[in-house]
Amino acid sequence: MQKILVSACLLGDPVRYNGKAKRVDHFWLGVWRKEGRIVSVCPELEGGLAVPRLPAEIVEGLAGCVIDGSAEVETECGQNVTKPFLAGAEKAYQMCQRYDIKVAILTEDSPSCGSTRVYDGSFSGRKISGQGVTSAFLERHGIKVFNQFQFEEVREYLNLLEKSALSIT
Ligand code: SF4
Repeated sequence: MQKILVSACLLGDPVRYNGKAKRVDHFWLGVWRKEGRIVSVCPELEGGLAVPRLPAEIVEGLAGCVIDGSAEVETECGQNVTKPFLAGAEKAYQMCQRYDIKVAILTEDSPSCGSTRVYDGSFSGRKISGQGVTSAFLERHGIKVFNQFQFEEVREYLNLLEKSALSIT
């Protein structure tokens, strides 16, 4: 049975920078929980950051540039937090390897977990198309990343994965 990596804050854990959760309740999430598919992760905590913490954004580049070493993640005060963000991305990937995970549902807009949209690095609240560092890292390693508005798409993707696994066995 395919497991799914899910952002801990979506599951109700108060791990966001402000000490709050971003809980979502969705029919399919409930089903997958009961089936034992869900593996929870907070990349920023895995990378060594604390709760609460200063909000951070990717500055002067996209997540892929952070991974390649040509952009940074910084707090609004200019503290460089690139290392813990990269460490968290690697830990999330290690969890995927451990449980043979090929699908993730991560929190949109986050500099770690965003999958289609992130803040633009100006700390003005403006969002741009892009990914968080963990999402980009996972996708580089072949893991499909969805967000909390895409449960139906996740269900279809899981079905595809499980059908193709059945046809191989
Ligand atoms: S790093 Fe991801 S899981 Fe952790 S609080 Fe931010 S969005 Fe949620």
